[in-house]
Amino acid sequence: MKNLNRKVAYVLGVTFFSMLQSCSKDTDVADVESAEESVLAISDAFPEELHNCGYVDGNWSSTAFLSNSIGSTSETNFMQTQNSKIASVWGRPAVPLSFVKDNSNPNSTYNAISYGSGKIYYGQAIYNAAKAQGQIANVMILAHEYAHQLQFTYGYPSKNETTARAAELEADGMAGYYLRRPNGYNKTSFSQIAAAYEFAESIGDNNTSSPGHHGRSYQRRSAVRLGFLLGAYDLNAASFDYNFFYYYNGVLNGSYKQEKSEFFNPEMDKYIRSYTKELERIKNGEMTDEEYFELD
Ligand SMILES: [Zn+2]
Repeated sequence: MKNLNRKVAYVLGVTFFSMLQSCSKDTDVADVESAEESVLAISDAFPEELHNCGYVDGNWSSTAFLSNSIGSTSETNFMQTQNSKIASVWGRPAVPLSFVKDNSNPNSTYNAISYGSGKIYYGQAIYNAAKAQGQIANVMILAHEYAHQLQFTYGYPSKNETTARAAELEADGMAGYYLRRPNGYNKTSFSQIAAAYEFAESIGDNNTSSPGHHGRSYQRRSAVRLGFLLGAYDLNAASFDYNFFYYYNGVLNGSYKQEKSEFFNPEMDKYIRSYTKELERIKNGEMTDEEYFELD
């Protein structure tokens, strides 16, 4: 695009100026010009270069670039719709969801990151790998990343540990909750989501603001299961946080919180406690994969 029509570029550049805000702070005049060229390229059916700033940030490779599309148009729409729905289930506005690609080193985008500044960057490689397990695996990952946004907003998890484990387990639980909610992904049987979770677990976590331990695999499994069970009830983020740790402390340590907050629900308490033995068996690694995948 060397013979760039500067006037057209300027107009389009203004139109898409807000989108270009997601570029690195390091963006200089040269970067802006290349971005304008990329904007023009939209009409050449290269929408993946819309956000191409030539550099994403230090969490991604130097050749990675931002994109507003992933896969086909319907796949992009699917992910953006899920992004909005997840936020909606929690009664919150969605945060911008962008995708990261790297044509020189595609494997470098095997990552998804939730930023404290209020955005989610989702790598192409991890998207493709999850998609191979079914799109529910991508929904699981996205719901987990959005859970970190809730944590950033509200200062969760309310439970403090010396590692990131509590935050990660809560995010797993919030993902399980979303997959069940009728206004969410609406999966009424756990067997429909267990396999997806196995993939989410296998990728580990990439929330750079929470280094350290993320919970043992069986603890993460039981966190998803507990979140799914809590999904039988309509909870806001505060109620989820309270109830998740009310019950999960018990699963982890064998001792439940004694104090009951405004979010305590006797009916739900009876329901969740009926699953206590099962949750303990998951957490202790006593449940086989076969049994886990067939839970109701
Ligand atoms: Zn995480």
